[in-house]
Amino acid sequence: MTIDNYKFAGKKAIVRVDFNVPLDENGNITDDTRIRGALPTLKKILEEGGSLIIMSHMGKPKGKVNPKFSLAQIKDAVGAALGREVKFAEDCAKAADAAAALQPGEVLLLENLRFYPEEEGKPVGIDKEDPAYETAKKEMKESQKAFAKTLASYADCYVNDAFGTAHRKHASTAVVADYFDADNKMLGYLMEKEVKAVDNILSDIKRPFTAIMGGSKVSTKIGIIENLMDKVDNLILCGGMTYTFAKAQGGKIGLSICEDDKLDLALDIMKKAQEKGVNLVLGTDCIAGDKFSNDANTQVVSAMDIPEGWEGMDAGPDTRESFANVIRTAKTILWNGPAGVFEFDNFAGGSKAIAEAIVEATENGAFSLVGGGDSVACVNKFGLADKVSYVSTGGGALLEAIEGKVLPGVAAIKG
Ligand code: AMP
Repeated sequence: MTIDNYKFAGKKAIVRVDFNVPLDENGNITDDTRIRGALPTLKKILEEGGSLIIMSHMGKPKGKVNPKFSLAQIKDAVGAALGREVKFAEDCAKAADAAAALQPGEVLLLENLRFYPEEEGKPVGIDKEDPAYETAKKEMKESQKAFAKTLASYADCYVNDAFGTAHRKHASTAVVADYFDADNKMLGYLMEKEVKAVDNILSDIKRPFTAIMGGSKVSTKIGIIENLMDKVDNLILCGGMTYTFAKAQGGKIGLSICEDDKLDLALDIMKKAQEKGVNLVLGTDCIAGDKFSNDANTQVVSAMDIPEGWEGMDAGPDTRESFANVIRTAKTILWNGPAGVFEFDNFAGGSKAIAEAIVEATENGAFSLVGGGDSVACVNKFGLADKVSYVSTGGGALLEAIEGKVLPGVAAIKG
């Protein structure tokens, strides 16, 4: 079923959204992007005369009730965004009466799903090494099914619009879908858009295809780097992870971050790129700082020869130019991970140069997908988010989808 074809009038829809929004110490929302992202789906259901049961997680309460992660804190903001009153169910597993009482056009927000360990379905308080762990795991899987069945019992149909958690097989993201037949479960608009954007990158590749992978660690990106190697023409590696490559090649990296146990892996990636005819682009110079701070003293140095006591913090001018030259001519672009410590304004220039080159390529007809928390923060910081083709809300989910993995949240609906 699709959200556009379903008749919501008089129906109760239980919708999994990602309202895991950042809060300040007083419980005020500091960035409401995720709430805004779900509005098209939620409004469509209400405007058609359906009623809404909204469910989400927030933070990592680890299966225990914790007021710090209560969704009650965002109830009024959700109400303001929807332009109507929002009722609140303080216990997401005991909301049957509140759900049954809902009239068309009414909204019920369930308390944080992760107050129940069943949501994630992992046994709590027992070590993985413990011989009893496997039994506990099996028992938890059964409780997870019961929990999902309870959630399903509240509604006539299920909508999943939480791309950020689509790579998790949790009660509310996947298991719950087993209790609805194919005609009564569907992806929300945000999910549809995300799935289509990934599809654009993977199935309709216009060449050259350039991927830019940055961030702090090669270890967290290795899956996607290896997968991309079969698809891309150019692979730009930037950010903190590149010092592992410099060291692996015998470079001096001073105090730069480095994963010493990944030196062989870095060399292996370089070898694979060569074998597969991928143009691997690494930085040649960098901006080094004498401390990890925005007001550090800086100097431009060779990426292979960083002086003792200094650390590589951003891409240097030659590197920015070589990256931009490769990006500008691309027709398909994927960007994940910054080129430096962009949170410090003085070390955001490399990431900005990448963002600007992506915008230029997009203006010249390229399809550009920016995804994964920090690169999204980058394009937002530079005010360029609306000048790229698509900004994904998913971090881990986006990377796993691009790695070619089937996302449980999508599979549960599409089969
Ligand atoms: P990741 O979570 O692996 O995508 O990495 C994102 C983080 O990498 C950001 O917080 C950046 O500040 C950080 N980062 C990027 N380049 C560097 C660098 N040269 N040194 C230290 N951290 C970096």
